[in-house]
Amino acid sequence: MTSIAERAHAAAVFIRHTMAVSPHGRWRGEEHARTAVRLAATLGLGLDQITTEPDWLRRRTTPGEPVLATATCPQTAEKYVFLARFPVYDDEAFELLGPCPECAALVPIATIRNLADLGDRLAQGPLRHEECDSETGAPDTFHTDQAHTDTCRYGEAL
Ligand SMILES: [Zn+2]
Repeated sequence: MTSIAERAHAAAVFIRHTMAVSPHGRWRGEEHARTAVRLAATLGLGLDQITTEPDWLRRRTTPGEPVLATATCPQTAEKYVFLARFPVYDDEAFELLGPCPECAALVPIATIRNLADLGDRLAQGPLRHEECDSETGAPDTFHTDQAHTDTCRYGEAL
């Protein structure tokens, strides 16, 4: 186990390095790097278990385009995909993505602020129709997410 100081130093180096080499430019590189550092800390993982990519589906024209961050479990190799919808805001919760029970698109199925939030969602299993139809079963962003297919009854008609 490395010391707090060593891990803190590694995180700072990681952010500077990612900014320098990001194919998406320095500032988007910083958003990706900070998202990875924050998700690694949230899940208690190393930075080498997190990858990030732009979320082309949920792009917008305001600053801080959304980032998709994938965490790979070092024990089971299972992958969990998280959305940082507003990566410039460090205090925004992550959204865990999972299949919509209606259209199977990867949509927000839980709001994740800490490891216990993920534990609660995993204990419940995949998102179910009953949850989507209830007031509190699915996150608000589930209902407005752009990933639902055009014919999905949960997607917002635009
Ligand atoms: Zn759907």
